[in-house]
Amino acid sequence: MMDCIIVGSGPAGACAARRAAQRGLKTLCFEKERFPRHKPCGGALSMNGVNALDFPLTETVQEGFVYGIRAVYGRRRMEARRSRPIAVMVRREAFDALLMEKARESGAAFHMGEKVLRLEETQSSVTIQTSASVYQSRYVILAHGAGGVLHQRHPGPGTEGRRWKAVTRRFDASAAWLSTRPQDGVLEFYFDAHPDGYGWVFPLRGAFSIGVGGLHRGRVPTGATFRTFLKRLGGPEEDRYSGSPIPCRGIAPVLGSERILYAGDAGGFGEAFSGEGIFYAVRSGQLAADTIADALEGTLRGRLHRIFRSRCLQTLGDNLQYAAFFARWVYRFPGFFVSLFAERPSWARDFLGIPMGETTYKRFLLDRLRQGLRKNTGW
Ligand SMILES: Cc1cc2nc3c(=O)[nH]c(=O)nc-3n(C[C@H](O)[C@H](O)[C@H](O)COP(=O)(O)OP(=O)(O)OC[C@H]3O[C@@H](n4cnc5c(N)ncnc54)[C@H](O)[C@@H]3O)c2cc1C
Repeated sequence: MMDCIIVGSGPAGACAARRAAQRGLKTLCFEKERFPRHKPCGGALSMNGVNALDFPLTETVQEGFVYGIRAVYGRRRMEARRSRPIAVMVRREAFDALLMEKARESGAAFHMGEKVLRLEETQSSVTIQTSASVYQSRYVILAHGAGGVLHQRHPGPGTEGRRWKAVTRRFDASAAWLSTRPQDGVLEFYFDAHPDGYGWVFPLRGAFSIGVGGLHRGRVPTGATFRTFLKRLGGPEEDRYSGSPIPCRGIAPVLGSERILYAGDAGGFGEAFSGEGIFYAVRSGQLAADTIADALEGTLRGRLHRIFRSRCLQTLGDNLQYAAFFARWVYRFPGFFVSLFAERPSWARDFLGIPMGETTYKRFLLDRLRQGLRKNTGW
């Protein structure tokens, strides 16, 4: 009998596995793929994400530091920079492999290439059927990303609700159409390239990650907007790209049951304004493992999934819930917001404090409200 079985070894699963093993739990993680596996991703890991890890990133994982952003809407432009990094660019294949290695170092076991097919929860344990065998565990963390199907059969966030759809591809920086593009540690966002979202150009080591994505209401032809975006940048006619949804449920009303918790994309922990998911996957995985460890130590006062949800709300709610509010307004009037931030450099500077962990979407919005009131009423 295992203490904690984890389904999926992306950032959520691997960080849950490390934390569970560090807390002394007999931990086993199943991953259906063999690493290194391809994961469609822009590769921007916010400083929040870097700081959530309890080990440094190795050289092979890092593809450069990011100090600022450039936003474009038609002819409108704004740029903001900080002297300290706001994010680190990572190569997902290497980053995810490092997270898994760190979990292994802490004592977690991994079964790679073994897919979890079914779960059966009883009062005292969960039976896990995989493509190879049957296992028993006291608790399970579902961290199978947006594509997993297990959450269709168990109490949890479900598959409906707000989500991003994003596609991307990595392009060699030496290509003629990219060779004049500056590698200046700035993330570029084109808010006129995709409805309710943006097109992006992110600098990597000797390459660029280019993609489009947005909150998808109804059918958004993301492949078509990607091709149009590449054409605008002077790139090739491109039909090769990869993508997936990023569920953005804020903090979903239900995040599990008495024996099963959800983390990362499986739990809907994507951020609705930017589509950022890695940091939230890391933290929700750690919080799930801590909640289970507390339950096993007998220190939990209340129901497992409710306590997990309230910890997520406390730790991640100020960003996840308020990013959705921010997204609603910015994506309704993107040009207005690009101009607004261009005219107010201090707002843009403060905004960069969100990925750095200096502030949250909630505090950023309340500060603007307070400033507005003070200016207009002298209050
Ligand atoms: C195009 C694109 C660009 C993005 N860019 C960024 C970015 O720049 N910055 C950022 O922060 N976020 C970005 N994201 C979001 C980010 O990639 C995800 O939020 C993040 O990967 C979620 O981590 P996770 O561990 O929850 O899921 P995943 O990384 O998807 O990992 C889930 C794992 O579970 C495994 N699995 C699934 N089902 C099973 C099963 N039944 N049994 C065993 N294993 C299973 C899968 O093989 C996978 O390895 C982007 C997403 C997309 C689609």
